[in-house]
Amino acid sequence: MIVFSPSDTEPSAPAPSRAENDHPCLRCGACCASSRVAFYWAETSPPTPDGMPQALTTKLDPLRVAMRGTDQAQPRCVALRGGIGVDAHCAEYARRPSPCRELKPAWEDGLPSPQCDRARLRHGLSPLQPSDWLPPPALQPLSSPEYPG
Ligand code: SF4
Ligand code: SF4
Repeated sequence: MIVFSPSDTEPSAPAPSRAENDHPCLRCGACCASSRVAFYWAETSPPTPDGMPQALTTKLDPLRVAMRGTDQAQPRCVALRGGIGVDAHCAEYARRPSPCRELKPAWEDGLPSPQCDRARLRHGLSPLQPSDWLPPPALQPLSSPEYPG
């Protein structure tokens, strides 16, 4: 659950392994519409100034809340914008709660992510492969049989 918001940046975050506009999570959003996103109530604002606004959550029990829209049969987080697999992004990226920060897309760090795979399959998207994290091939030099230098 790390759908980027194109307008958000996090100075303290580690440098992405590839260009932000080429990250597999950008446009995907499948995990934001696949399961309940529950977390400790104190991650909300208030009391945490930069936490998720309480109005975007629903109370589960005395200790936990869930992102609105994810606690239903066909989950879709209220903060998710755009179409899944097309132009999805998180409208509250900088305030996203811990489950969203902790879910890693498959193979980003060389490890599988069954949750990511399940979410993508649920929405008709192929699971990510290690090759999705390879840098794009270098541009071919202009000097070639078709374009003699
Ligand atoms: S399902 Fe996987 S690829 Fe898609 S946004 Fe979530 S973590 Fe990223
Ligand atoms: S808060 Fe953002 S990252 Fe988390 S489930 Fe909702 S849309 Fe996805």
